[in-house]
Amino acid sequence: MKILKNVFELNKAVKNYKNVGFVPTMGGIHKGHVSLIKTSQKNKKETIVSIFVNPTQFNQKKDFKNYPRNIKKDISILKKLKVNYLFLPETKEIYRKKMKSFKLNKSDKILCAKHRKGHFEGVLNVMNRLLYIVKSKHVFMGEKDYQQYMLIKRILGKKYKINIVGCPTIRESNKIALSTRNKLLKKSSIKIASKIAVRLDKLKKLSKKNKFIDLSKYKYKLENKFKIKIDYLEFRDEKKMKLDNFKSKYRLFIAYHINGVRLIDNF
Ligand code: AMP
Repeated sequence: MKILKNVFELNKAVKNYKNVGFVPTMGGIHKGHVSLIKTSQKNKKETIVSIFVNPTQFNQKKDFKNYPRNIKKDISILKKLKVNYLFLPETKEIYRKKMKSFKLNKSDKILCAKHRKGHFEGVLNVMNRLLYIVKSKHVFMGEKDYQQYMLIKRILGKKYKINIVGCPTIRESNKIALSTRNKLLKKSSIKIASKIAVRLDKLKKLSKKNKFIDLSKYKYKLENKFKIKIDYLEFRDEKKMKLDNFKSKYRLFIAYHINGVRLIDNF
């Protein structure tokens, strides 16, 4: 595996992007990331993984500082997976060039865009820069971060004329979605997060039979039972992310705070 620390090294190593898949990450590589990498490897000859913890998408400095990092372990996992290239840039390398920044439409300011001000602007800005640098036409992203996947697909997929491939959420056997942030959870919080995931999975299934689920009541119940703070609990359709559209495919979206850690998921 070639480790490339800047654009010069990247351009020298990768001359032709025709058959190269790209998996952007913030590191703390887990089975969720691994599934994206394996999907890329199945579909493309070569794979580039990037690890860059983007400061501009964290709305709190403390959250950025505490984000779990373990680059040595990441490198050893990626080597074992036979990833071809690891792009490992410094912040100044990504933000050197002047580029237009993104603003969200009013209709996009829902779910995490509403509750984490500036977060998706930061995500779109860094992905815009990464896609400008890494010229792969096939990018693999997780449905675990469904709103992020949809925004990037719609806005940047169009801009760069690239294929953004959504990959299913990988879960632990206790139903918790794999996430780098899970490393910040105490044992007791993991137990609760698992119970919540099991309940929401059931609730989604139940919603297919009974469309009249009172989510605000359910949200209140979960908050009291598990002593969590829920930012949102909403059914939205998969395509347009509009509320309560049970006519087409839909998902149940949640973001909540448990012992100082914010988790998101969808079912
Ligand atoms: P992150 O490192 O958290 O920024 O995630 C990098 C990519 O991995 C994003 O496209 C995520 O949606 C995806 N990802 C993270 N967790 C999972 C998971 N449990 N299952 C599938 N994809 C995931």
